Amino acid sequence: MRAILLVLLACLGAGPVQADVKKAVTTFTVIADMARNVGGEHWEVVSITRPGAEIHNYSPTPRDIVAARDADVILWNGLNLELWFEKFFARLRDVPGVVVSEGVEPISISSGPYDGKPNPHAWMSPASAAVYVDNIRDAFSELDPENAGEFAANAESYKEEIRAALAPAREALSGVPEGGRWLVTSEGAFSYLARDLGLKELYLWPINADARGTPKRMRDVIDTMRAEGIRVIFSESTVSPDPARRVAAETGAAYGGVLYVDSLSAADGPVPTYLDLLRVTTETIASGLAE
Ligand SMILES: [Zn+2]
Repeated sequence: MRAILLVLLACLGAGPVQADVKKAVTTFTVIADMARNVGGEHWEVVSITRPGAEIHNYSPTPRDIVAARDADVILWNGLNLELWFEKFFARLRDVPGVVVSEGVEPISISSGPYDGKPNPHAWMSPASAAVYVDNIRDAFSELDPENAGEFAANAESYKEEIRAALAPAREALSGVPEGGRWLVTSEGAFSYLARDLGLKELYLWPINADARGTPKRMRDVIDTMRAEGIRVIFSESTVSPDPARRVAAETGAAYGGVLYVDSLSAADGPVPTYLDLLRVTTETIASGLAE
């Protein structure tokens, strides 16, 4: 019966024999990679924003809408990450949407125009990322119950790898004295990670939707770095490093390099997967602070 159906579908132009592969569309590459790890061969996963793209204020194209309209589900972060999403989603008919951060205990942004709003970057905490993985598993299992056992097994082993990804950085940071445990960055994208690693946080602007620090904010960061004797500042892959480099020059601190948070790199780049993103970012932080 199944064979006959597949032949019929093939005749109708529905493509090759993968007629039972479902399609998930995600808003950015990190969620896409998580979804691929959970869905395995049973789900085709497409990210709307490309590797390296700015994700907060993205402008969807007509092609993005076409690509998302035939999806079985659309997975998005929520927590005010995708400022463009609601308008985009309204143009998709009948595609169910799943907020993958549902159930995460949000950390609020504590300054600037987003004061009191949730910080959206919860995937940078392995504990919160486990919630994302469970939500993806549940969404896939509901839409594709035949393969639910496989999604559950994939999710468990993947969560184990996520937990293990921070171990080298934790080890390296354990030798950094209390006074040196500061994470200074361009975007305030590291509240969850800083909490998990026991670091204090300082940044030039709260989220990349407005990727530049006000003169007052720049001055505050410089003053705090001087007062606390902070010796390193980092910047993120999806924004210009120039503001962070200027602060480094003015304070005599080192520029600690590029952190990956909002986007994976292309396949041949340094962080083609979410596990790579966690490892590379936390190891860059640890080696910057240990110097
Ligand atoms: Zn961001």
